Formats: sequence, C-alpha cells, structure tokens
Amino acid sequence: MRAEIICVGSELLLGDITDTNTQYLAQRLSAMGIDLYYSTSVGDNLGRLVECLRRAFERSDVILTSGGLGPTDDDLTREGISALVGETPAVDETLAVELRKFFEARRIEMTENNLKQAWLIPSARAITNTRGTAPGWWVSRGGRHIIAMPGPPGELHNMWEAEIEPRLRDSASVIRSRTLKLFNISESRVDVLLKSLTSAANPTVAMYAKQDGIHVRITAKAEHLEAALRAIEPVEVETRRLLGDCVWGVDEDTQESVTAALVASRGLTLAVGEAITCGQVAAMLGSAGGSDAWFQGAVVLSGSERYSRDALGVAQRAADQFHADVGLGVCGWPLLGAEAGIDELLIAVVQSGSGFSRTASFRSRHHAVRTLGAYYALHELRSALRLAKVSDPDGEQGRGHKAT
Ligand code: ATP
Ligand code: MG
Repeated sequence: MRAEIICVGSELLLGDITDTNTQYLAQRLSAMGIDLYYSTSVGDNLGRLVECLRRAFERSDVILTSGGLGPTDDDLTREGISALVGETPAVDETLAVELRKFFEARRIEMTENNLKQAWLIPSARAITNTRGTAPGWWVSRGGRHIIAMPGPPGELHNMWEAEIEPRLRDSASVIRSRTLKLFNISESRVDVLLKSLTSAANPTVAMYAKQDGIHVRITAKAEHLEAALRAIEPVEVETRRLLGDCVWGVDEDTQESVTAALVASRGLTLAVGEAITCGQVAAMLGSAGGSDAWFQGAVVLSGSERYSRDALGVAQRAADQFHADVGLGVCGWPLLGAEAGIDELLIAVVQSGSGFSRTASFRSRHHAVRTLGAYYALHELRSALRLAKVSDPDGEQGRGHKAT
C-alpha cells in the first residue's frame, strides 16, 4: 500500500507554521508498514490543490490530507476533493444537527458559513471529530482512498488514532528498527565496512551522520512484530561484528547515559577538569541519571588557563580537588587563523590509585568543537574504563592516538 500526504494551507508555504502533521503522519505510517512515497504542501488555492490531488490519485493508494476543513472561503479541501471526483457537495442533515449541537453545547453562535462543515458528497463518509467542528472525509473509489483531516494537530492526531489508523491497520504490515550508535569512525569507513549489508532490501541498513557519531539503522518489515525482530537480529549481530568497538549504544541511548552507567558500574567516583569545553562535559555527566552518587565536581578553566596542552595535569588537579578516584581532563590549543576550531584537543583520564592514563588528540576546524570535544572526552573516558578493567594496573600509560 502506497500512501501520500498533502498538507493544505498557505501558512505552511509562508513559513508561518511548521508542518508537524506530516512528521506525525509519516511516523505513524512507517510504524504500520505503509510506504509513504510523496508528501506535498500546497497553498489555499483550488486549482493547485486539485492538481496535487489528481497527481496523488494517479500514483497512490491512500491520500491523506491535512487542513482546509474550516468554515471559511479559503478552506478549500472539500471543494478540491469534490472537483477531483466530479461530485457536488451538499449539506448532510445528520451532520448539520451534530454541528448545531456542538455550538449550542459551547454557547457559541453558529454562523451560516459553518454549515460548510456539514457538507458531504455521495462518495464520502464523514469521520467523527470529537475535538472540533469539522468532521473529516473518507472517500473511497476503485480501491483508493482519500482521507481528509483537519489541520489543528490535536484534532488530526485524535481523529487519526481513533478513526483512521484502526481501519487502515488491517491491510498493513509492521516496520521495526534498531539503531546502533558509533563514535570515532568516519561515515565513509562505515560505508565500506557495511557494504555487504547496505544493499539488502529487507532488512535495510542505512547510516546517518549525527552530532554524537554515526547512527546505523537496521529496519525490517514483516507481517508482525516478532517476525520483524527476528529478521533484525542476525543483521545486528553481523553489523556489530563488522564494526567492532565503535558501537557505543543503541536506540535511545545517549553518550552521557552510557558513560554514566559505565562509571557507576565500576564503583568509581569522578571529577572533570575542562579547559576548552566550557563545562559541557560536566553538564552532560551531571545531568545523567544517578550521577549524584559518583560525580564529584568539575573545574572549568578560563582566561589565561583556557588554552593548554597539559590534559594530564588538568585531570589530576580535578581528581585531587574533589577527592575523586578518576580525573578526566579536556584541553585544547587554538587553531591559528581559524575563527573557531582547535589545533589539538587533548584528553586525559587519570586514576591515581591504579594509575592509568589515556590521552587522545585531534584537530578540528569545526564550529561545534565544544560539543564534539565533549563527546570525544566521554568516548575516551569509556575506553579508559573498559581497558582498565582488563589490563594490568599500570597499563595504558600515556597512550595516544589521532583522530579527526
Ligand atoms: P480550522 O477549522 O481551524 O480552520 P482547518 O482544517 O481548516 O482548521 P487549517 O485552517 O489549514 O485547518 O489550519 C488550522 C491551524 O492548524 C493552523 O493555523 C495551524 O495552527 C494548524 N495546522 C494546519 N496545518 C498544519 C500542519 N501541517 N502542521 C501543523 N499544524 C498545522
Ligand atoms: Mg482553516
């Protein structure tokens, strides 16, 4: 089944409102396994609306419209659908009675133009709207459907969930996704590693570059949820095998949530010294659930101390000042001639008792270097904690590596 969305409203094209209805409907359709092939926004203009509807009707099985069901002259969706199917709308007496009741219950005067909201055409069935005055229209012709919903998101969501999705669901399948999150690997490298998987049709494997790293999304389509999960599993195992240590989380995980869980699981306390990230690392770790138990505090360096290469010293100072088991230090050196960016980002993790330290450095012209630097710091902290668990107490001294 192929679906298509048409949002009606000049406000959308003027940039006055954000089209959240398309996002909502796209997510609902995808979860139901209905393919969405096109989505269009069109202004309050009858000719262009009919043109969009006609094109949609030629290529899609289900056309979902949003907006233009109000009572005024520029609410034209009913007129558009009527013109497309060649029928003339007329007031439906049952709907008119309902409409009058709606206004009476709210003690609002009903004007004549409101009667437009009680219109129907012979091919249309009214869809109940418990949140507003405009019922939707469900038009079925030759196995194709045009489903018209009101624009206000509350009304549209309610109508979709109560009246539309249950009826469409019968003929649809399920789509389920699993997202693996990676860090410290480039998109092109992931592309090369996953070549054997990304060309498959079901499950599909796709990658997205995000601020917190690359996300690899495995999506399976099946008749029911269990079958979709079963199809994802072997692909996830293979993806993890190919990517190795780069995978730091899945689905809803954030870098801060997984790092916090790791620190907590080691039973260690932590302090942070930041000379370049302006407190971003502390803000991330401090806002992670349960961090009160182990996050001791942070030193944020500024002024003449802002730029430094002594990440080890900064880490050690923070650990000492807050009597923490582990100190994480983040330093940077400015990139000459660049407005933003750093020549070097240095990260160190120290644990005085067992004495591991780890430094990493990279160069970046990136404007978001503070956030990126914070992610690198969390990444190095996780690596250090993982390695410390398996290595001898003196292992990983001053190890460095380059990344960009
Ligand atoms: P009304 O009876 O309120 O006129 P309507 O069905 O005619 O409803 P529109 O006039 O197109 O709908 O839009 C009404 C309001 O709904 C808009 O002002 C906007 O706030 C919201 N809206 C419309 N379309 C969208 C959309 N695609 N995404 C998010 N909000 C929308
Ligand atoms: Mg309107």
